[in-house]
Amino acid sequence: MNHSARHAQAAAFGRRAAGFAAACALLGLALARGAAAESVALVAERLIDGRAATAREAAVVLVEGERIRAVGDRTLIPPGARVIELPGATLMPGMINAHEHPLMYTDDYQNAHLKSSSAYKALMGLAGLQRHLLAGWTAIRVVGDADVAYANQDLRRVIDAGIFLGPRLTGAGHYLSITGGGGDVNYLSPEQHVIADGLIADGPEEIRKAIRREVKYGSDWIKLLVTGAFQSVGDNPRNVAFSPEELRVAVEEAARLGVPVAAHAHAAEGIKQAVRAGVRSIEHGTYIDDEAIRMMAKRGTFLVPTVYVGDYYAEGDRLLAQDKQDDYVKNDRSRFLAAIGRAHEAGVKIAVGVDLGGYGIDPALFTGEFAVLVEAGLTPMQAIQAGTRVGAELLQWDDRLGTIEAGKLADLIAVAGNPLEDMRALQQVSFVMIGGVIAKRPGDPTARSGLALIPDRP
Ligand SMILES: [Zn+2]
Repeated sequence: MNHSARHAQAAAFGRRAAGFAAACALLGLALARGAAAESVALVAERLIDGRAATAREAAVVLVEGERIRAVGDRTLIPPGARVIELPGATLMPGMINAHEHPLMYTDDYQNAHLKSSSAYKALMGLAGLQRHLLAGWTAIRVVGDADVAYANQDLRRVIDAGIFLGPRLTGAGHYLSITGGGGDVNYLSPEQHVIADGLIADGPEEIRKAIRREVKYGSDWIKLLVTGAFQSVGDNPRNVAFSPEELRVAVEEAARLGVPVAAHAHAAEGIKQAVRAGVRSIEHGTYIDDEAIRMMAKRGTFLVPTVYVGDYYAEGDRLLAQDKQDDYVKNDRSRFLAAIGRAHEAGVKIAVGVDLGGYGIDPALFTGEFAVLVEAGLTPMQAIQAGTRVGAELLQWDDRLGTIEAGKLADLIAVAGNPLEDMRALQQVSFVMIGGVIAKRPGDPTARSGLALIPDRP
């Protein structure tokens, strides 16, 4: 184990937690003394840096503390550096999942959110996030989740404080939805009164208040359900939910508080209204048309298509709203893939979002989204960039993440073989480093046992 690198991350995270002040002082001293000697050189058969159009052969990445110091060949390796050989592997930036709900811990999300406390969801969410990390995902944007409270914001706090190891988190605690919209997760009769885990807000005043509440409790994105959804009961993905006035107010209020907006939108008209209002990203975009593509390319709006989740759920009766899902896969999937290809051609920035939830599903499957983007017309290299560099830009973390370049945070993974030749290589993650801390390496018992990843403390 590279204790100094681990301590470096713990120290960086600990700065935000007053309780760790004493530990940080100790760690800071250790880091200052050991910095020059504690270089880690990662040696791999090839490197995908997230920016270049081709891979680099026989690459070396030199890491010092939490950051990448240099990228080159073996001549970079300083005397005394710790060398980690990754033969046959491809080094690449940690994958970024720009659309996720870590607290949805089973396929049965219409019911599960009613059965479990926020604390239970947080514990299952932590386990799911650590599995995510070990599968190579080093940053996740949460786009609202199945919890009345703010468990994701608590998960982010314990990860940022270095108490648990996990992917970097950003995002929204809840999705804002109109009454009867895709976030009004309540399929019961009108006599029953459940507290929906979406934030139900109708009209400008309720929307302003909901956004203020989200930001107060730690959301650094606002998620709007601009149209109906596929996996909810009683609403229609082809309908626009919020009015243009409500959308304008939502984006204005979020901007006033310095927070970007992610818009769930399937219907083309909903996409256009959201883009006009000024959202940063369109989630899904299933019925996108050429006018919406032109608008998004012109304004730089990101598209996060989340296609693979539909493929996953097409294979069985897993959902209360299974008929909607089946209808989409039968009638709309191929048209949607063609539209994603045209959007990419037109210059729309496309990011990888998985949308498969937290604990219940093997995270190796999450890389199915990369293969779908290739099916839609991106090259394998462009698909990998969608899940690394472009994702970082969407998250506004491109100054520190998303590429393997000197000065960036050392969020790196190694996959067996060459993903440019076979995308299934992305399922074979043998090495994971986050902020210079090794979370997984070949033969590491932590990775095999699934034990909670707790950083070392002095
Ligand atoms: Zn989603």
